[in-house]
Amino acid sequence: MSFDSLGLSAELVKAVLEKGYTKPTSIQLQSIPVILKGLDIMGRAQTGTGKTAGFTLPLLHLLNKHTPSRSQRSRSPRALILTPTRELAAQVAMSVDVYGKYLSLKSATVFGGVNINPQISKLRSGVDILVATPGRLLDHANQKTVDLSKVEILVLDEADRMLDMGFIHDVKKIINLLPKKRQNLLFSATFSKDIKRLADNLLNSPIMIEVASNNLEAEQIEQLIYPVDRKRKSELLTHLINSKKWPQVLVFTRTKHGANRLAGHLEKNGITAAAIHGNKSQGARTLALSRFKENSIRVLVATDIAARGLDIDQLPHVVNFELPNVAEDYVHRIGRTGRAGREGEAVSLVCIDELKLLKDIEILIKRELPKTIIPGYEPDPSIKAEPIMNGRNARGGKKQFSGNARNHYSTRSERSRQNASTYRGKFNSAGKSGRGK
Ligand code: AMP
Repeated sequence: MSFDSLGLSAELVKAVLEKGYTKPTSIQLQSIPVILKGLDIMGRAQTGTGKTAGFTLPLLHLLNKHTPSRSQRSRSPRALILTPTRELAAQVAMSVDVYGKYLSLKSATVFGGVNINPQISKLRSGVDILVATPGRLLDHANQKTVDLSKVEILVLDEADRMLDMGFIHDVKKIINLLPKKRQNLLFSATFSKDIKRLADNLLNSPIMIEVASNNLEAEQIEQLIYPVDRKRKSELLTHLINSKKWPQVLVFTRTKHGANRLAGHLEKNGITAAAIHGNKSQGARTLALSRFKENSIRVLVATDIAARGLDIDQLPHVVNFELPNVAEDYVHRIGRTGRAGREGEAVSLVCIDELKLLKDIEILIKRELPKTIIPGYEPDPSIKAEPIMNGRNARGGKKQFSGNARNHYSTRSERSRQNASTYRGKFNSAGKSGRGK
């Protein structure tokens, strides 16, 4: 199923494809057609499932389709997205901008803790979509700097957190300011009694939508970070596979050459392994995969591209030999373990060059990952961060930076250098708390 077939306008599909999404996630498949029909939704979904695009895309489609003529156009918001936190508001607003880049809808974000005046000017200039946290939105409503009487679609995002944070009264006051006739979309990670009560009062014959678990970051996956020096990763991986007696491991590397080199290293050390990547023929890839599945090789080393579409279920161990350049890929990678409710372990070997990538991942999944130093593999504090390179450079060849990553990585590297002592502090403190695991 593709985005094309969901009934979204060409401008939205284009923006989504440019963002790099090739197919809709489960929540998107379920929610987009229902929202396009104008129905209310009660959606159980956590962050990481793609729920933001799940409601933002059809919302943009509907507003764009029914844009009133200029003369009739009110300057008041026609869609209101309420979020519990500023961070989420900013994130959702960014999605609205990215997905709506080819439409001429205007959006604004209002949240507390910042000067209210720029928000007032923005609201005055006319807004179609308003993303807001409840408290600040009420401030605007009380000051009459926002008119909520034209809202056609209301989204309550992370409704459970909104209640946990004590916003229920603010939310109710806001709902009283909205027109009675409107479409309502409620998303929550849990359906507690309080959420159900809120939904009963708010939603009109809602369609229930659920994703069984957070399929982009399954809860049952244990995630661990092993800080280690860049040059000692192969050695540490061999040690882990042997000492922990891992029977079947999928290992991710960033480059094709890295995958070949690592598979060679493992083989030399008595661990059966094969590499799959874009330079291998389909036949070689299929063979490696079937040997891996039938346990005649213990380790499959893959690049992200080669691993996409790999049909392997219930892997007990996934190793990020190198962190991916894009944080979302981490979530896709670790989703290969702990499938179908089974337990899994996702291990990442992280060197000093990769701390920014690690931070990006922790921001995406909204939590800090536990770090454990393996005795004998303590990072050497004198080693400085180096730019992360893609391609064949690692063996002394020409340096290759991928696309627009050039600036990003050189900046990252500079930052890494400046922060080197902080890194070491972080690695060291992780060592104290979790040694020897
Ligand atoms: P969310 O659950 O809305 O916070 O989304 C989690 C992450 O998944 C975000 O970084 C999105 O950019 C990404 N994402 C959303 N939809 C898709 C998709 N169809 N394919 C790949 N990634 C997606």
